[in-house]
Amino acid sequence: MIDASFDLSGKIAIVTGGNGGIGLGIVRGLAEAGAGVVVAARNEEKSRRVVQEIQEGAGEALAVSVDVGDESSVEALMQSTVEHFGRLDILVNNAGINIRKTPEKLTLPEWSEVLQVNLTGTFLCSQAAYPAMKSAGGGKIINIGSMLSIFGASFSPAYGASKGGVVQLTKSLASAWAADGIQVNAILPGFIDTDLTRQGRRDVPTLHEHVLKRTPAGRWGTLKDCAGTAVFLASPASDFVTGAAIPVDGGFSMQV
Ligand code: NDP
Repeated sequence: MIDASFDLSGKIAIVTGGNGGIGLGIVRGLAEAGAGVVVAARNEEKSRRVVQEIQEGAGEALAVSVDVGDESSVEALMQSTVEHFGRLDILVNNAGINIRKTPEKLTLPEWSEVLQVNLTGTFLCSQAAYPAMKSAGGGKIINIGSMLSIFGASFSPAYGASKGGVVQLTKSLASAWAADGIQVNAILPGFIDTDLTRQGRRDVPTLHEHVLKRTPAGRWGTLKDCAGTAVFLASPASDFVTGAAIPVDGGFSMQV
């Protein structure tokens, strides 16, 4: 049955940055498909509100405080997940930040902070998730890239470097862990209306109109827009898909 291929009942997912924005959209999608979800981010109050929402919808959820750039914090996240739910099947590496400055103005600490969260965080969480997935006979890792995994932007040198790196890291993890039954893929969101891009529109006043003009779908994305692709990549329906980077962008990346 094709429906069963998308069913996540009995599966446990961690979504980093799951307490807001794109991550929240993905948490809602995975929970609707039947997964128990760990909402993993720094702001515990925001995470607890999301857990309450999922539980009120009869889903299973747990809030765990984590800084994805900190190895011991990431280890503690994996431990809490396995202690609470007994397993880990799906990891969504969604936590991300941006500091918008032209390259000549970006300081080394700013560069390092963006790389630490977006790229090193993705590596640390994937590495920490591997033992539980391997011992379970398989798993799914979904990394969140960006249009800046493909294109450059004068105002986001560290972000672009980190998101380009996320796609290459996705391929390396996919290649290394395919024999363990772990599929690793990336979603490349187009421009989605979140706190991150609201700040982006304040920093770069031309951004809003540029996105509307450049996106064939003629709109900004919503929190829901990445959820379907995430459920697909988390489910048995994608068992023969690995190392891919799928744009979810209203067509932004398919034409000049
Ligand atoms: P938001 O700013 O709305 O959400 C970012 C999330 O990441 C928050 O939940 C935040 O929670 C969490 N987070 C930030 N730093 C850390 C950290 N060190 N450790 C753990 N969690 C952290 O952004 P978006 O929803 O827009 O972005 C989500 C992902 O999608 C990012 O990777 C972003 O780069 C990517 N993306 C976004 C696009 C867009 O148009 N919005 C386009 C392309 C990619 P808390 O503060 O509680 O830690």
